[in-house]
Amino acid sequence: MSKPAILTVDDDPMVSAAISRDLRNRYGDDYLVVGARSAAQALAILTKLALRNQAVALIASDQRMPGMTGVELLEQARVHAPGAKYLLLTAYADTDVAIKAINDIGLDYYLLKPWDPPEERLYPIVDDLLGDWRQANPDQSSEVRVIGHRWSDRSYDLKTFLARNHVPYRWFDIERDAEAQRLSTLAEATPADLPLVLIPEGESLRSPSTLDLAGALGLRTRAEQPLYDVCIVGGGPAGLAAAVYAASEGLSTVVVEREGPGGQAGQSAAIENYLGFPKGLTGADLTQRAVAQVSRFGAEMVLARNVVGFENRGPVHAVLFDGAGELEARALIVATGVSYRRLEAAGLDEFRGRGVYYGATASDANLCQDDDVYVVGAANSAGQAALNLARFAKRVVLVVRATTLEATMARYLVDRIASAPNIEVRCRTEVAACRGDGHLEGLVLADRASGATEEVSSSWLFIFVGASPHTEWLGDGVARDAKGFVITGQDLLVDLDRVGGPRWPLARPPFALETSVPGVFAAGDVRLDSMKRVASAVGEGAMSVYLVHRYLATI
Ligand SMILES: Cc1cc2nc3c(=O)[nH]c(=O)nc-3n(C[C@H](O)[C@H](O)[C@H](O)COP(=O)(O)OP(=O)(O)OC[C@H]3O[C@@H](n4cnc5c(N)ncnc54)[C@H](O)[C@@H]3O)c2cc1C
Repeated sequence: MSKPAILTVDDDPMVSAAISRDLRNRYGDDYLVVGARSAAQALAILTKLALRNQAVALIASDQRMPGMTGVELLEQARVHAPGAKYLLLTAYADTDVAIKAINDIGLDYYLLKPWDPPEERLYPIVDDLLGDWRQANPDQSSEVRVIGHRWSDRSYDLKTFLARNHVPYRWFDIERDAEAQRLSTLAEATPADLPLVLIPEGESLRSPSTLDLAGALGLRTRAEQPLYDVCIVGGGPAGLAAAVYAASEGLSTVVVEREGPGGQAGQSAAIENYLGFPKGLTGADLTQRAVAQVSRFGAEMVLARNVVGFENRGPVHAVLFDGAGELEARALIVATGVSYRRLEAAGLDEFRGRGVYYGATASDANLCQDDDVYVVGAANSAGQAALNLARFAKRVVLVVRATTLEATMARYLVDRIASAPNIEVRCRTEVAACRGDGHLEGLVLADRASGATEEVSSSWLFIFVGASPHTEWLGDGVARDAKGFVITGQDLLVDLDRVGGPRWPLARPPFALETSVPGVFAAGDVRLDSMKRVASAVGEGAMSVYLVHRYLATI
């Protein structure tokens, strides 16, 4: 495969030579770095590359050029290189133009000239942009292939696992793709062997568990040590932030995650309110950055392991894995978050994973191409999912029990939904029943005011109602409220009626995020009265590590 291109554009010969040289020095082995001295020359080069089917990963353009500005050039370049990343090289005086270009033309980044030293001011930015581009444009020759039935819950689970762990894969539907038939015949696969997973230069896995798949992909599924300073259960924003702070502050740290790092945030198509990312960022992008940071500081990440039990063993705490295995740590951070509550509707459970899904990953959206999709829920997550699905679906219907969306959804989402031509909001409505043969084919919707019902055809129902915490694995040892949220800090002392289970046992008061078990902390959505936002989960993850240090100083 030919190398993807990086195009630089600057009319000043010295600057043009300098940017090309700096980029070639660092990226020349993997990318073809091409320099243009005018916007017109750049467009001619882009046309040539497009006709040769050569991918363009990045265009780095000067803003002030005769004939056409950098922003104007980049706007036109979308036709030639729609997926490329755009970097504008500006003088301080052009900052406002650059900020406007973020919204107007989807500029990815602007960089003030000069960029010396490039190791500090240029390469970190370009590394990020090229990393994102690679993620969105994987080299297909190294892809995992999954062959299975479109409506199989096992296929859905494996695809979700691969997506959440950022493993590029290609999906082949056994009923629709000739290639799927060919591969399954070559592998001599029986119906019971589906989904079949083909690993490049590796074995063929027949209906594997996520643990087997993780092992075959070389993901770490076992802890290296028997005892750690701190074990973090859950690899969402709270857990990953805790891991970064704990490992960077010298604590031996392990994170245990059962599905894939990123948690709920990892499934979001656009996080727009996280500080420092004015253009917003995808959950996948945030997760990838966080995981890179976790590994850079040396925290261990154990994947595809479901924690099912917890034991206090004197000065250490043990977490027990599903199947077999355990590990021990001097302090424990519970960061297992929440997931959507079960929706009660006749026949719905039968189609779970076969048209009925709790939550939606960003990658689910293109599966619904040109179909009618129903989304249940009235909070931000439902609104975001509806907008994301509407990019591909023919029509998205948001089913809402309340009379309006305004009370529960952020204003900016309500406005965007109102102006989306293919999203319909049905208030005072609920899903009363699901029907289908092998997979979801239709829904019965009920008007909550009149009781009138209507049957609609659809193969897709995404549910975003109520949050319920993942805390069963804590058993009776850790105090929680009636819904299962973990009680921490002063709430353990002042609001005894809310406290279910054991009381705080020590003379000293609990630290702010400490649970009823000294040395066990909770951070993020799993905690009672948490804010249910990425930023607060990250903040609590970081804060819990500060409290772990204080706890460790007491034992
Ligand atoms: C679609 C969607 C869009 C969102 N958009 C935004 C947004 O734009 N802005 C914003 O601020 N917030 C947003 N949120 C909310 C935000 O994602 C959450 O508040 C945040 O992810 C909470 O982080 P957490 O680490 O506490 O928990 P989670 O993100 O829930 O992560 C918990 C992790 O623990 C793992 N886990 C659970 N139980 C176990 C176990 N027993 N063993 C091992 N691992 C376990 C789970 O697999 C999961 O990865 C969105 C949520 C969703 C669903």
